[in-house]
Amino acid sequence: MDIHAQQLIDKLASKHFLEVEEYRLLLESLEPELADYASTKARAARQPIYGTQVYTRGLIEISSYCKNNCYYCGLRRDNGSCQRYRLSPEEILACADEGYELGFRTFVLQGGEDPYFSDEVLVPLVTQLHTNHPDCAITLSLGERNRESYEALRDAGAERYLLRQEAASPELYGQIHPQEMQLENRLRCLSGLKELGYAVGCGFMVGAPHQTSAHLAADLKFIEEFHPAMCGIGPFVPHHATAYANEPQGSVVLTCFCLSLLRLIQPNLLLPATTSLGTIDPKGREKGMLAGANVVMPNLSPAEVRAKYELYDNKICTGEEAAECRSSLQQRMAEIGYEVVIDRGDPKGGVC
Ligand code: SAH
Ligand code: SF4
Repeated sequence: MDIHAQQLIDKLASKHFLEVEEYRLLLESLEPELADYASTKARAARQPIYGTQVYTRGLIEISSYCKNNCYYCGLRRDNGSCQRYRLSPEEILACADEGYELGFRTFVLQGGEDPYFSDEVLVPLVTQLHTNHPDCAITLSLGERNRESYEALRDAGAERYLLRQEAASPELYGQIHPQEMQLENRLRCLSGLKELGYAVGCGFMVGAPHQTSAHLAADLKFIEEFHPAMCGIGPFVPHHATAYANEPQGSVVLTCFCLSLLRLIQPNLLLPATTSLGTIDPKGREKGMLAGANVVMPNLSPAEVRAKYELYDNKICTGEEAAECRSSLQQRMAEIGYEVVIDRGDPKGGVC
């Protein structure tokens, strides 16, 4: 193993930061022994905080309509072959009720940027969800909205917001998004959400088209400095109806290495082993967990809409009922020595 790279892992484990060039060097030094070394350190960093507990979030995919045109995503507005649907507030509340019975204590309402879900629709929905399940955390992942909207949704009971920065490098952000989308706006949303008191999640894809190790290093540095409560990362997976249909998917090994580095950057970070990781490798979520993740996000959407929420091709769990989805993950986690718990899954140990 490259001794310098090993020393950088040790430095990250003790100091929780590196220079951006050092992150790049680490990413470029990746080989199996270094990945093992980093994942052992990452598990050791997670152990005193989260032990072998795995937090779950029940994902409710509320709409496949999107007004944006991110080049990588199957829900982009110009994809005429995407089957569009939106759930009614009643359907969303019913998904949460079912999820509650199954043991979920966090619900994530995620969707494309669908103008139908205005504050007039969302505020009463979030209020009702909060009233029905006051012991649960409500997470929103509905893209860029204005500050007043974030404020109204917070006041209605939403506590967490997931909005990946996607690429902290303006160069890469500009390459994978149309001109009308600006990194500056995304970063403004992220800091606004933090100021409003949300537990904020950011994140990025690993292996996105045009992405270099320098771009990835910029994302790691961004997370280190932004100090989110959560960070969602997963491999890029091509979607057949986008311009990136023939681009290679991201790598499992590199995604897991990034998970380990993120765990070392911020030991109490809430870090999901994502569905996209499970999509490109049948053992992807287990590998993610062993690399330092501590969260999984089983699907709670009604079975008939799952396949229509096609961010990328071959998404797993589209044919399962919510109960099957949770219990199969529970079993998978048990097989590697981890325990899915019934818990809101707040970050432990304050913001470190
Ligand atoms: N519209 C919201 C939430 C839905 S998209 C938003 O954009 O924030 C949720 C995440 O899916 C995005 O942040 C993106 O990183 C990821 N995603 C989209 N297309 C993908 C693809 N082809 N491969 C992997 N992840 C993808
Ligand atoms: Fe819409 Fe989100 Fe897909 Fe972009 S990533 S097109 S905002 S659903």
